[in-house]
Amino acid sequence: MIKTKCFAGETKTNIAQEMTMKRLEKEKKTIGIMIQIFCSANHKTVRKLLCPACTELLDYAKERLKKCPYGENKGACSKCKIHCYKPGKRQIITDVMRFSGPKMVTKHPLLAIDHLLRIKSSRRRETISGKPDNI
Ligand SMILES: [Zn+2]
Repeated sequence: MIKTKCFAGETKTNIAQEMTMKRLEKEKKTIGIMIQIFCSANHKTVRKLLCPACTELLDYAKERLKKCPYGENKGACSKCKIHCYKPGKRQIITDVMRFSGPKMVTKHPLLAIDHLLRIKSSRRRETISGKPDNI
């Protein structure tokens, strides 16, 4: 008898995994998905595959995350004052986030919400330091 894989429970497992993942693990997964969405749409790569440039970008992003001095307490990269990305890479990653960010909401709502909350809390931190924010 051939055993068939059960796909019905798959989404549930993924969501449970996403909820219990550590922040840096989530960030790594989020950036991976964002680059993947960006690459398949802009570089016409087949789903789940990355072109050489995007593979390099993902490796670079993971490396930066690993070396992030804030560790598990990190805020959103886009709001960070350190700017640990090289200028050229920073421009590309900004484009990737701008492009893929809105698409994350339907594909991975939990990761997207987590990301948005972090941007919001980073912004609040900035406001406390005296600089008024026009929200
Ligand atoms: Zn690509």
